[in-house]
Amino acid sequence: MAIQVLVFLAGLALGSFLNVVITRLPLEERIWAGRSRCPHCRVLIPWYDNLPLASFFLLGRRCRSCQAPISWRYPAVELAGGMVALALWARFPGSYQLLIYGPFAAGLLALTGLDLEHRWLPDVITLPGIVLGLVFSLLFPHLTFLEALAGVLAGGGIFFILGWVYEKLTGKMGMGGGDVKLMALIGAFLGIKSVPFVILVSAALGSVVGLAAVLFQGAWRRGGWRTAAIPYGPFLAGAALLYLFGGGDLLRLLMLGE
Ligand SMILES: [Zn+2]
Repeated sequence: MAIQVLVFLAGLALGSFLNVVITRLPLEERIWAGRSRCPHCRVLIPWYDNLPLASFFLLGRRCRSCQAPISWRYPAVELAGGMVALALWARFPGSYQLLIYGPFAAGLLALTGLDLEHRWLPDVITLPGIVLGLVFSLLFPHLTFLEALAGVLAGGGIFFILGWVYEKLTGKMGMGGGDVKLMALIGAFLGIKSVPFVILVSAALGSVVGLAAVLFQGAWRRGGWRTAAIPYGPFLAGAALLYLFGGGDLLRLLMLGE
């Protein structure tokens, strides 16, 4: 039990770091540029007001100095970090695979936050991530290099072609280049076998949420679906995590009875 508490706390701390990444990357601030400031009044945040999860609620969701509201994104990413860390530990307790899927899941969380807030899946995360996934396949036995490479080519390739066809047919940008690179990144870490699952499940999740947005938020406008009303990256990241946490096994069981 004690180990789970430590894993959860480590996940909270990681989530706290990912918040720094999500906040600073779009501002072109250095990630390691020292302590965080309130984005509103720029006052330095003391450590006791910067505790993952706790400070948000202790402060009543407001900056102590200027009373500006603090975004829900901060506790949400911290909690997600803690939950994902627990889930990783439950699935791969003490395994070398934590070295692979820990950084992978952290990258997915950062990309999810950036895509939700800024519609941006930065190359500075996705491209080194693809290389890292390929390198891991050479170092560790979870995937062969060929499975990882085929995952990059098939994942990225399918999305590239889909985006190209959509653009030719409609004259509008559909799939962003960031989605192509994120799918290639997922292929590099989870291998080519994950690609059909991730594409189908992300499309299904996206459809459900898209439909809900139409029903509850009026994302549908006269003249058609408000294009790019919803970023696609979070659905790809979610589907990749579902695959990692057993969705792949479930699919094999359903399809092949293995
Ligand atoms: Zn402030």
